[in-house]
Amino acid sequence: RAGQLGRNRIEWYDAYLEEQLVRRMDLERELPGAASRGELDLVYQPVLGLHDGQPVGAEALLRWRSPALGTVLPSELLPVAEDLGVIGEIGQWVLQQSCRQLASWDPRLWLSVNVSPIELAAPDFVSQVAATLVTNRLAPERLVIEIAEGRVGADTPTVVTQLAGLRALGVRTALDDFGAAQASLAHLRRLPIDILKVDRALVGEQGTRQNGGIAKPLIDVVVSVGRRLGMEIIAEGLESGAQIEQARAAGCQLGQGFALAHPAPAERFEAFLAERLTQPN
Ligand code: C2E
Ligand code: MG
Ligand code: MG
Ligand code: MG
Repeated sequence: RAGQLGRNRIEWYDAYLEEQLVRRMDLERELPGAASRGELDLVYQPVLGLHDGQPVGAEALLRWRSPALGTVLPSELLPVAEDLGVIGEIGQWVLQQSCRQLASWDPRLWLSVNVSPIELAAPDFVSQVAATLVTNRLAPERLVIEIAEGRVGADTPTVVTQLAGLRALGVRTALDDFGAAQASLAHLRRLPIDILKVDRALVGEQGTRQNGGIAKPLIDVVVSVGRRLGMEIIAEGLESGAQIEQARAAGCQLGQGFALAHPAPAERFEAFLAERLTQPN
């Protein structure tokens, strides 16, 4: 009986591994050339002022519309792209498409583009950004480049150099997912960062009991340190009114999340702007 159970488990495990392997092979076969075949797409998630609900910018998020595999999310495609060495061509497309879109929007808005450490470390990354800004006649301050805190690893000096290079162009830099894996003071001190994106892991934090009382929620501490370092703070992953309230109470000026607005294709994002963005006086 025990033997039968064991065998079922092994069969289940085999089937699971096989499924994973087949999926991986499908991704590896289809992904190269996806950019040049026109299969990549961007959706845009608004970033709003928490005091007035005004859109101030957006984040560009990658979608792969694969004819063979359907829509594939970045969490699945990015590791494959990095392993295959095609992250560079994908990143190039993302940057160019982002800047083209941004140039067509209200000049008060900025757009944030995610980059992996591999893209950032490319020796010509900063000059490619510079060229794309010129091509699209964009004010550099309207572009934000995001790097996830959890991926600022062993090669911190390269990250520092490249972020500083972007800043020298006038481009703004953001530290993404702060607090998801770590919440390192060293990162806050050492990295040339303009915008701190506080991960939803901290936004959900309700504070811990300490010395018989309730300690300040971690988000309060992170926001006050970030502000003291002159950073703009965005609370990410806001999914409820309570979380919006908590972020606002902690001193976050800006927020992003499903409770405020979902990521949407360009046309729907533009409709959102038309409805929500007040006219300049
Ligand atoms: P991220 O930069 O932290 O982007 C936010 C992610 O959280 C997005 O997932 C977004 O759809 C999702 N999100 C937004 N609001 C909420 C919310 O209220 N609740 C929850 N649970 N999730 C929310 P997405 O689009 O699947 O992207 C995942 C990650 O992939 C991004 O995380 C970013 O690290 C990476 N990524 C996305 N686009 C690109 C790209 O063009 N290039 C690179 N290198 N990385 C990208
Ligand atoms: Mg991001
Ligand atoms: Mg994030
Ligand atoms: Mg994230």
